Amino acid sequence: MTRKHILVLNSGSSSVKYRLLSMGEEPAKGAEAGEAVRLASGTVERIGEAGSPVADHGQALRAVADELERVGFGLDSEELIAIGHRVVHGGTAFTEPTLITDRVVEKIKKLVPLAPLHNPANVEGIQVARRLRPDLPQVGVFDTAFHCTIPEAAATYAIDRATAERYGIRRYGFHGTSHAYVSREAARLADRPDPNVIVLHLGNGASVSAVAAGRCVETSMGMTPLEGLVMGTRSGDVDPGVLVHLRREARMRTEEVDGLLNRRSGLLGLCGDNDMRAVERRVAEGDPDAELALSVYCHRIRKYVGAYYAVLGTVDVIAFTAGVGENSALVRERALAGLEALGIALDPGLNAAGKGLISADGSRVKVAVIPTDEELEIARQTLEVVSRNGRG
Ligand code: ADP
Repeated sequence: MTRKHILVLNSGSSSVKYRLLSMGEEPAKGAEAGEAVRLASGTVERIGEAGSPVADHGQALRAVADELERVGFGLDSEELIAIGHRVVHGGTAFTEPTLITDRVVEKIKKLVPLAPLHNPANVEGIQVARRLRPDLPQVGVFDTAFHCTIPEAAATYAIDRATAERYGIRRYGFHGTSHAYVSREAARLADRPDPNVIVLHLGNGASVSAVAAGRCVETSMGMTPLEGLVMGTRSGDVDPGVLVHLRREARMRTEEVDGLLNRRSGLLGLCGDNDMRAVERRVAEGDPDAELALSVYCHRIRKYVGAYYAVLGTVDVIAFTAGVGENSALVRERALAGLEALGIALDPGLNAAGKGLISADGSRVKVAVIPTDEELEIARQTLEVVSRNGRG
């Protein structure tokens, strides 16, 4: 079996995360995970910060290349068949992983107004990587793509249609790579074919999706990653009238409103800590602010589970993933307690252990903890595109 190496790059504004994977043969649809072997991984941080040795993404990628060389898998190695890039916003233009060309880069640049914090760094990473290995196929894997199947009724905001169209205002959804990976893994736990799955991705950012027979039909993040669940520093849902009120009464400028909702809200805004571990410690000590933060956080999850239950009609699996979802038994317990009438019951012991199935024996809806693996999913999708194009 020939090994095929794929380099996955996740270029953020101040960091580049990388992972080099050896993929073997192309995985068949629904094949077992684990056929990919991790050869190297790491993060180059503090790009462009004062006093940092890494001035820009060019230097960051050269650092990645040096590190790969050091461990014996230089960028010029024969096995390396492609680079897969995480791209946050694909708008309506990109509904699947896409082979990068000049035209594709231009299109991603056009989407910068929709994701001003993320897409510029993603483009930067792509351009630098193309300069380093112009001959190598590069593939963009979009965070929004998995959500392109959401029906119009769920994707449309009830605002003036001309305005919405002119400014690209609709639900795009994010974390799609994670929702795709976890919903597929979760579906295997169901007793019936084409199951309905609710995926709770609870990391620093958090989102929930409803997936029917492998197709995403709803997700909580919207035009931007601000909508939906309570997050580390983001508010999630607020009455849109609040923004108008803050502009009018508090005379807040756009940047201030942006800073408030994106960086000073969520768990941090409610109790001063954005890390769930710290919140949990304080809750155990009886701290009322932390208690409120945790209750708001869990209440929001419960509300979405109920809403998506109704959207799907019936639910087979609820899957928890990402930093909080994989590690916080307390959040899982508080979010789903008392839902036996909906067929949802956790097994306290299994929930505390937090691996695989955590629902009680008789629970009609299976509940599971499924570690996400966005890099592996990006590598798989990249391999698929390259194979389809006869380049691998
Ligand atoms: P990102 O969205 O940055 O990828 P992660 O998915 O790694 O984030 O999630 C990070 C968050 O997970 C941390 O901010 C922390 O709140 C939470 N977390 C990590 N480990 C634990 C734990 N053992 N218990 C509770 N929460 C945890």
